[in-house]
Amino acid sequence: MTVGARRMLPILASGRLVRLHQALDAVRASCDVGARRRLDPVAFVHRYRAPLDQELAGLLASSCAFGNVTTIRAKLDDVGVRLGSELSAIAEDRDALCDAMSGFRHRLYVGEDLALLVYGARIVQRRFGSLGDAFASFLSGGSTLHDALIAFVDEVRDASGLVMTGERRGPAHLLPDPRGGSASKRLLLYLRWMVRPADGIDLGLWPVSPARLVIPVDVHVHKLATNLGLTQARTPSWRVAEDITDVFRRFDPEDPVKYDFALCHLGMAGSCSSRFVREVCESCAIRNVCRHGDGSGRRSSTAQRVRAKVPAGHDDG
Ligand code: SF4
Repeated sequence: MTVGARRMLPILASGRLVRLHQALDAVRASCDVGARRRLDPVAFVHRYRAPLDQELAGLLASSCAFGNVTTIRAKLDDVGVRLGSELSAIAEDRDALCDAMSGFRHRLYVGEDLALLVYGARIVQRRFGSLGDAFASFLSGGSTLHDALIAFVDEVRDASGLVMTGERRGPAHLLPDPRGGSASKRLLLYLRWMVRPADGIDLGLWPVSPARLVIPVDVHVHKLATNLGLTQARTPSWRVAEDITDVFRRFDPEDPVKYDFALCHLGMAGSCSSRFVREVCESCAIRNVCRHGDGSGRRSSTAQRVRAKVPAGHDDG
């Protein structure tokens, strides 16, 4: 499936892109991975050792990864206590899962939602050998990442029995349908964890090239991308995520999404107002490439200086 008829790509070679590349590499190099991991929902995945458990844990953790991060971590702690250390074992038993998750709530979700998610995912594991093998199968034969994600969500949802229509929004929100063109941030975050090479954060579990990934864009990454001139769109979407990834792909075609974690944990993240605030901006690691960083507000965006148009879906490889 193609999202959007045509895509606009920023200029490849420019001094601004070179500075942007240097700034992002510096942000990555200065990131305290261990300390940041402990604060991130991905820490839940690292509690497990067996790959089948890790990919189930990743699906659970990424599905819950919205809202206040302290609350997310507390809720995942609770899930971990309820489900024990062998997720793939308890996931065989639908009744045991539902009993263990009884009384749990997180935002739109009740315990049964997460129980059914894990139960369905375990069925897919048995069908394909692993969730990673399932996803790799959906991605083969010229499919785009978007195609594969749709097939993956459909497969898990069908196996789980999670019903999208009903009085509660939880089941639909838990496994969102990428067809609508939303940014699918939590699903792309899950892919990043499973596919990117093991680096203390991501786990490199799945037989999928990191070159295929698209960056997970939440409001925070969208804000930074806007400040860096990577997008002019007002809201995150799949297309915006692809456009940002296209820029990062110029810095590392084999691993464009490697900048995501560092950007997410950039020190000034919570205090950035997307305008020049001296006390905040003067210590910002991306100040020299931010549109607001010098206080003039006059810097043109990379996206404004579009030179080429290419068909959508070019990110297949
Ligand atoms: S320089 Fe200021 S406006 Fe730009 S990203 Fe940093 S904190 Fe935000």
